[in-house]
Amino acid sequence: MTEPQKRPMPQARVIPREQHGISRRNISPNALRVLYRLKEAGYGAYLVGGAVRDLLLGGHPKDFDVATDATPEQVKALFRNCRLIGRRFRLAHVVYGPEIIEVATFRGLGDDGSGDRHVVDGLIVRDNVYGTIEEDALRRDFTANALYYAIEDFSVRDYVGGFEDVRQRTLRLIGDPAQRYREDPVRMLRAVRLAAKLGFRIDDAAWAAIFELAPLIVEAAPARLFDEMLKLFLGGHAYESMRWLEASSLLRELLPSTAAAIEARGGDEMPRMMEAALKGTDLRLAEGKSVTPAFLLAALLWPAAQHAHAAEVARGVEVQAAWLRAADKVVREQASRIAMPRRFSLPMTEVWALQARLESATRKRAARLLAHPRFRAAYDFLVLRALDDPRLRELVDFWTAAQAGSAPAAASADASADAAEADEPKKRRRRRRRPGAAAAPADDA
Ligand code: ATP
Ligand code: MG
Repeated sequence: MTEPQKRPMPQARVIPREQHGISRRNISPNALRVLYRLKEAGYGAYLVGGAVRDLLLGGHPKDFDVATDATPEQVKALFRNCRLIGRRFRLAHVVYGPEIIEVATFRGLGDDGSGDRHVVDGLIVRDNVYGTIEEDALRRDFTANALYYAIEDFSVRDYVGGFEDVRQRTLRLIGDPAQRYREDPVRMLRAVRLAAKLGFRIDDAAWAAIFELAPLIVEAAPARLFDEMLKLFLGGHAYESMRWLEASSLLRELLPSTAAAIEARGGDEMPRMMEAALKGTDLRLAEGKSVTPAFLLAALLWPAAQHAHAAEVARGVEVQAAWLRAADKVVREQASRIAMPRRFSLPMTEVWALQARLESATRKRAARLLAHPRFRAAYDFLVLRALDDPRLRELVDFWTAAQAGSAPAAASADASADAAEADEPKKRRRRRRRPGAAAAPADDA
């Protein structure tokens, strides 16, 4: 092999079928259909990116991307079930029911200013320059993500040393790491996400540059950062991702209050509630259950929320109102870094605000709280808090019993009186439709 530190110049290495483990059996039949159709029409057709990497690792890719020398319009002409998407870069989506095969035309480097590429302050804002397969490989992020599986002879084409890097389980940026991160700071997040997901190491140069350039991450579009955050935390490796984020100093840029809470404990250890929330998310995903990012974010931003809440209360704001203000402050501060849609910030705020109600509820009020649509999440959150604060264990026991029907059963007579002065009309309507619902355990809404 050539000098591994420097950017290897494109030198096609063709790894024939018998020297790699990729079998067509592990490729989605729809992806194969697309590849064969392109080939039969005379175009180059390759599986590319994460799918090739994962196939080499013996895994089962969740999506299959195809690269070709056919233009998007030429691809569209071949498939009835094809639509063209994308503003920044035109892509073809070939749609088979729930499965979408993304077909991209080789992209060029074309940064000589001649094409349609626009670079502002070193940041690529739009590019639509078609190129060769070599150029397409070079503008990808990691060598392990730049391998091409050719349908014509079932070989793997490697222009950047990715085959060896997959074997060594190493994430190595193609080209100069600092320059590649400056072009697109999200690549730093991709590095830690893929390291966590694949159990790869990050090559020294790519790792060192993250520390230097981590502050650039906030220059990426907040919406894109939010998408990447979802991938980090909902990809089944939330706990590992968090450890990588922390170690790489990226957490300080993205979730500063969360980073501070971890650093306050010496840096190596996260608050137990965060660890449990992250591991719980991974476990639920492994079991095929649904997860909500709102709950996880509520745990990660809890130190910030508590801090803001204490400040409001100190200013004389009433406890519940202080929660709303505190949540508002935390969400606003956070939104300047990562966009947080209301469908996430709202339930997060509710879970926080319900904590005070769980703590102060009289037996009489318990039944009403049990019927709150967000009760279950608030209870689960209380359980997490008790991991760091043993004084809350008694309260957890109370609410555990309450759900089982024992404790508030005695109070359920009072609950109907409570219902009469119910605050939200929505709740009143539900009580009318489902009499007796107040005493029943809250559903897992
Ligand atoms: P995953 O398994 O999580 O999907 P992936 O590597 O397939 O990982 P995608 O976001 O699906 O990630 O991207 C597909 C491919 O596109 C990557 O493998 C890489 O070659 C290329 N790519 C994605 N994002 C970037 C980026 N920011 N810069 C350069 N290349 C990228
Ligand atoms: Mg992918």
